[in-house]
Amino acid sequence: MHNNLTVEIEARLPGPVIQLVRTAGRTAARCGFNSYLVGGIVRDILLNRPPADIDIMVDGDAVRLAGEMARQADGKLTIHKAFGTATFKLGNCRVDLSTCRGETYDRPGALPKVKPGDIRQDLFRRDFSINALAICINPGRFGLLIDYYGGSQDLADKLIRISHAKSFQDDATRIMRAVRYEQRLDFKLEHNTLKLLRRDLEMLDTISSDRLKREVLLWLGEAGPGKIVRRASQMGILPKLHPALKWNRPMQVAFSRSAACNAAGTPVITYFCLLVFQLGEDALYELLLRLNLLGSRYDLLSYQGLALKEKQAMLDNPSIKNSELYFLLRDTDPAVLQAVWLYPNPSMVRKNLHLFLTKLRHVKTLLTGNNLTMLGIKPGPQVGAILKKMLTARLDGLIKTRADEEKLARRLAGI
Ligand code: ATP
Repeated sequence: MHNNLTVEIEARLPGPVIQLVRTAGRTAARCGFNSYLVGGIVRDILLNRPPADIDIMVDGDAVRLAGEMARQADGKLTIHKAFGTATFKLGNCRVDLSTCRGETYDRPGALPKVKPGDIRQDLFRRDFSINALAICINPGRFGLLIDYYGGSQDLADKLIRISHAKSFQDDATRIMRAVRYEQRLDFKLEHNTLKLLRRDLEMLDTISSDRLKREVLLWLGEAGPGKIVRRASQMGILPKLHPALKWNRPMQVAFSRSAACNAAGTPVITYFCLLVFQLGEDALYELLLRLNLLGSRYDLLSYQGLALKEKQAMLDNPSIKNSELYFLLRDTDPAVLQAVWLYPNPSMVRKNLHLFLTKLRHVKTLLTGNNLTMLGIKPGPQVGAILKKMLTARLDGLIKTRADEEKLARRLAGI
């Protein structure tokens, strides 16, 4: 691999972002700082993958640099003085500026102690060699690849490698991240990294609920979450989240069906329901507690999934009326219904769920409550009861037109 990447940067980043990056480099040089693109953006440029957000590291002072850039750079600038960082928003793209730092850990799972550092120390604190690459953006050295830890060779060899033997102990979220990158990029865990990951699985217990939650939701937000969950199960990570969580045949069917239907469109919360669908009530509670999700939408929807299991027998009925199906399912979130539909349930259950999801849930009466009062029906609970009967008749195909609805409403109201 050659080590000037100017051509690749210009090919892969949008014009306005390149301008901002060049402005950052020029301004940094004027202030006497060195500045670099770092982390995921460098990895993605080298892999020719669509770049995500952009991180710039400043060997100097990021807040001062952002202040100096403010007059010449496009984009909305926000400075976070307390964190020593700044962000430019350019359309959909974020460019974050931070100051190089080194980190030490007092104990496993603790947040790191941060001290000022140079680019070498800043890259050393990073999780994997492929995320520890930088590209200089100061004029004169623009495009120069900085690779202290063998990241570009690991990119070529498709390997995920930690930078030192205590890495997973310092921060066990890296265990979760390792699997995510391995499966996203179709890489392998480097031999020793895999050994250390297995040795340090216990360290997952040192991670706070919020950090663990974030990593689980990041898994489920990837393009192929099923692959990640399967691998995590195989490596013993899944049972560390909860012993009852297992990759098995029904889960495999559900995840691969979702990939086949609409991989990009499936919401994270549906994948979460897929993940927890087979748990019993106690296990579900314990998992939600571990991930600090009690009281959240994830909690609400996964319990709806549990409740739906009780309705299986009613759903497995070929002669259930459309209206019965509608009132059975209307209070369950569509994301949950979709998850249950993806599971290998009896074909009649899946057919009925599909009918509800694609047709019945969109059915509405043509007349509204106001229309009914205009027909002369007294406002009050009677209006709601008539509307419900009209909807029932419409769902069951007994009425079609507005005139049918008016006739039925009059008959029910006795007018
Ligand atoms: P993507 O957003 O595509 O998943 P990214 O590399 O931008 O990838 P972020 O989670 O945004 O990932 O993190 C930015 C960078 O910060 C990473 O590239 C990595 O260098 C570093 N980093 C993030 N989390 C950790 C961690 N737990 N330990 C060490 N370094 C980390």
